[in-house]
Amino acid sequence: MKYSEIFYTLQGEGQLIGMPSVFFRTSFCNLRCSWCDTAYTSWTPENKEMTVSDAFDEISQFGVKHVVITGGEPFLQRKELTALCERLSVNGHHITIETNATIFVPVPANLISMSPKLSNSTPLDEQQWREHHDRERLKPAIIREFLEQYECQVKFVISDTQDIQEVHRLAEQVPIPKETIILMPQGITESELNTRQKWLAEVCKETGYRYSPRLHLNIWGNKRGY
Ligand code: SF4
Repeated sequence: MKYSEIFYTLQGEGQLIGMPSVFFRTSFCNLRCSWCDTAYTSWTPENKEMTVSDAFDEISQFGVKHVVITGGEPFLQRKELTALCERLSVNGHHITIETNATIFVPVPANLISMSPKLSNSTPLDEQQWREHHDRERLKPAIIREFLEQYECQVKFVISDTQDIQEVHRLAEQVPIPKETIILMPQGITESELNTRQKWLAEVCKETGYRYSPRLHLNIWGNKRGY
């Protein structure tokens, strides 16, 4: 499998926030978000490789129930991801897969954590990626398929009020149940997050969407391996 890193930390976002979890980060992504905080899996992807069997051994040696497979975009590696999830599932792990929700593959998983990309993610300065990204970033039929077949959460990174309008439109179009929608403030520094979090908390009170902080940024900052 193409991968970038394996580490043990707390889940930093969403309904399992605070849960001690082993993260397996795959490398390579089909999108190019302007604010991607793991550019080493997308813009300049690392090309490390290990077998599914080695990935399973490395993950399970932590002896931790919760496993989060993230990226990059994990569903790009259809065959390998399926084989890994099958082994983890048989071993009794709780599996979360974090995805940009543009590719559907039926794999054993307990929670699909979708993060559809809004227009604030489009890389305006990168001509060669801009059109591709805008064409590929939202796949309502894929989101619908995950919602029908799995327990899901649907997370959005929010910069401003225009983003909230896009969330409303997508939620209506798919449709996405309100209780599965989680809004998080965009930003990687404490001051960026502080600026947006109070405003976003009020938005959540008004709309009924759930708020999630980004715990790993609050505790460790924007560092790899946490
Ligand atoms: S989908 Fe995720 S990994 Fe891919 S470019 Fe966007 S933020 Fe980065």
